[in-house]
Order: sequence, then structure tokens, then C-alpha cells
Amino acid sequence: MSLINEYTNHEIKTFDKDHVWHHLTPGSAADNGLPVFVKGQGLDLWDIDGNQYLDASAGGVWVTNTGYGRKEIVDAISEQLLDLNFFASAMGNKPAAIFASHLIDKMPGMNRVFYSSSGSEANEKAFKMVRQISHKKYAGKKSKILYRERDYHGTTIAALSATGQSQRRDQFGPFVPDFVEFPHCFEYRSQFEETVDYGVKAAQLMEDVILQEGPDTVGAVIIEPITAGGGIITPPEGYLKAVEQICKKHNVLLILDEVVCGLGRTGKWFGYQHYDIQPDIVTMAKGVASGYAAISCTVTTEAVYKDLQESDNTDKLGYFRDISTYGGCLAGPAAAIANMNIIEKENLIENSAKMGDLLLVGLQELKTKYPIIGDVRGKGLLVGIELVTDSTSKQPVDETLAISIFAKCKQAGLLIGRTNRSFAEFNNILNMSPALCVTEAQIQQILTTLDQAFSDLTVDLTQA
Ligand code: PMP
Repeated sequence: MSLINEYTNHEIKTFDKDHVWHHLTPGSAADNGLPVFVKGQGLDLWDIDGNQYLDASAGGVWVTNTGYGRKEIVDAISEQLLDLNFFASAMGNKPAAIFASHLIDKMPGMNRVFYSSSGSEANEKAFKMVRQISHKKYAGKKSKILYRERDYHGTTIAALSATGQSQRRDQFGPFVPDFVEFPHCFEYRSQFEETVDYGVKAAQLMEDVILQEGPDTVGAVIIEPITAGGGIITPPEGYLKAVEQICKKHNVLLILDEVVCGLGRTGKWFGYQHYDIQPDIVTMAKGVASGYAAISCTVTTEAVYKDLQESDNTDKLGYFRDISTYGGCLAGPAAAIANMNIIEKENLIENSAKMGDLLLVGLQELKTKYPIIGDVRGKGLLVGIELVTDSTSKQPVDETLAISIFAKCKQAGLLIGRTNRSFAEFNNILNMSPALCVTEAQIQQILTTLDQAFSDLTVDLTQA
């Protein structure tokens, strides 16, 4: 018997209740009626009480791109760890070298991979690169980093300082100086009366902030190509291209946070690749190893890398003096190589695009049936629906209604994603982001279950 399986279910639940401090959740799993999961295979999950679920949330937070139970990834990790489990990444190792080369093959224009272990950390590295370039090239003046309303970039204090979600930030200040917010580009809730050329107009709002702050003080802009936790917001035509051009014009680095969008989630290797743009820095985590190991990457152009090399003898400390103990070691890149191999072998990028289209079409049909669905949006398998009281006022529904749909789906054995209950701002948005190996039958199951949940909710509301 393994060290884990020697305990009874009752003991596990008691240990959890007494000692585990759950993320984003007050109280224990038991207090909140939340499952303790024990097994996964493909998109199927089982909890400790034997209940089975179809997971349309990729592990709750867009992680398990290749699905559960992938023996090839587990074998790749275990073979690597038996050969060598650790040495600090100042030195070289085989899987880190191989994965970097495979990754760069998918990212024309990019050339260097800096490893760490989480999305927040990958963004921290990007911010440190920008700050150090500011010192090396601009006498410390180009230190400001602009971030966008509603985008999330992580949990550490600097990543939170770059996050445009007030309820995530609440009670955690003071924040790091020189992070400045600019308005979002959210066509469904446009700032303008007229939405013609909305993308270009919204990008102009970013340029306005660069001009206000002074272009010689702004080092970088960070954006999620498709906003995930802030409400599954896809950029309209022309927006990201205009953002890229404005950044170039003002000599501002463009950082794209692909922590959610990366590795096929949106139907291309990277979300930004839908929009014909060339970033300077790209960060990624989650789908890089689909949750089999903790790995994240900060990928840069050769130009950014060169800016951070020691330039001459007067600048002995001028290289990027950064380390994370587990970055690039060794389970992470070993898992990432095997994960990428599965994505390629099983054509999961194409499947993500195709199944995502099916899901969007099905959700659009539900929207015509249920007026509470105000908007359906997404790309590939990053899809969301926004619930409103009516389509004219677009007033967000009370969060209890979104919770009710989530709970009805769970009751019927379907796990969808939901912005956390503490989010007064976005608690009317639900998301569906199954693993990229989802089948047509599973997409149908997701749609049928949602249809039933909305139908039941309609009955509840008429009876209330
Ligand atoms: N960026 C984005 C877009 C994210 O959604 C997240 C996590 N949800 C992060 C960064 C932070 O990643 P991590 O939790 O791995 O630090």
C-alpha cells in the first residue's frame, strides 16, 4: 500500500478539515461541500466518495491541457528523476536545453527561455528584466510598467501590483511603485457609444496613459492576449496590432502573459499568434506541463537577452542576476517535452480550434434560448458566458445565479469554471475550458448539461 493510500477516506477528510488552508476559500472543503479528488483519466475525475465528473475546467484553473492520467508524461518525469533530480540552473541540464529548443521552434522571433515554477514568478522575472534594462540603458528612468484593467498577472506582490482586479488587490496594499493601470478593451461593455474601430480606439486609451506618464518613463506594457480570469475577453479586430505599434513607437517593451492562453488553449500554440504581432517577452506556465510538474517560462527576444548581458568591464553586475531554485529543474522540462510531444502527436492544437468552435456555436444556440446569457465569447477552448438580467441593460445578474448554474452542473457531474465568489466585479461570468483532447461527444455533454441547468434555473426563477 502506498504512503497515501494507507489512510481511510474519513481520516483524509478529517485531516483536510483540521489542517488544510484552501486557496481562495474560507473554511475546509467539507464546510463548502467541495470534493476531495482522488483520480483523473482524460477529462474524467473521481472524488473520494466515488462521484464522477466531466472536467470542463482543465483542473479548475486552465492547467491540464493534455488531460489526466498521461502515463508518457509520468514516465518521462520518473526516468529523468532517476537519472538526475536536481542541480541548480546556473549549470546546464538535458531536459531544460531540449525543451527550450522545442519551445523556441514554436515562437518565431523569440530566442531565450528563462525557467521558473509558476505564472506569477514568470511575470516577476519579466518585470525584473524591464527594471534592469531601465537601469542599464536609461539611467533608471524607464521603470514604469503599464497593466490593463481586469487582467490578472499573479499572486506575488509585484504581480498583484500589475493586476487590474480590485477585489484581488483589496487589503494587500501598499503595492509596488511604478505600476500604472490603463483601461480595458472589452467590446461587450465598450467605453464608447460607437463601436466602429473599437480595437484601435481602445488601444489609443493605452497610448493616452503612456503619454500622460511620459514615454521616457515607461519601460513595458503587460497584457493577457485573451483575458482569462477577468472574464474571458477576446480582443477585437486591430486591437493588439495597434498596441504593438504604439509600444514600438514609444520604445516600450510588449510583455504578453500567456500563462492561460499558451500551449494550444486558444487553438494556436500561443494566443498572440492569432493577431500577427511580435512581442518582446512572453510568459507561460499552466499548460506548459499540464499540471504534471510545476514549470513556467519567461521567453524573450535575443534583443532583450542581449540588453541584459554584461556589456563591458565597468558593468560587472549588469547581467540578469536572477535565480529560482526549482526553475528548469528537472521534472518540469522533462514533463514539458512529453506534454508538447502529445500535443503534436494527437493534433491537439487543431482539436482545440475545432472543438472550441463547436462549443461556441452550441453556446450561441443556448443564448438564443435563455435571455439570461448576455454574451458568449472566446477562442479555441477558452470560452466564457456572461450572465445579465437583460440584454439591453446588460446589468450583471446577482452572483447567486451564476453560483446556481455552477452548482447544478456539478450536481449533474460537470465541472465548469467560475470566477471566485469574492469577485463582485466578474461574478456573472462562467467559463468552459476543457482539456484540449476533448471529444465531440464530451462537448455535446457539456452543452446538454448546461442547457438543463439553465432550463432548471428558469423554472426556479419563475417559481420564486
Ligand atoms: N497570469 C495569468 C493570466 C493567470 O491566469 C495566472 C493564474 N491564474 C497567473 C498569471 C499566475 O499564475 P500562478 O498562479 O501559477 O502563479
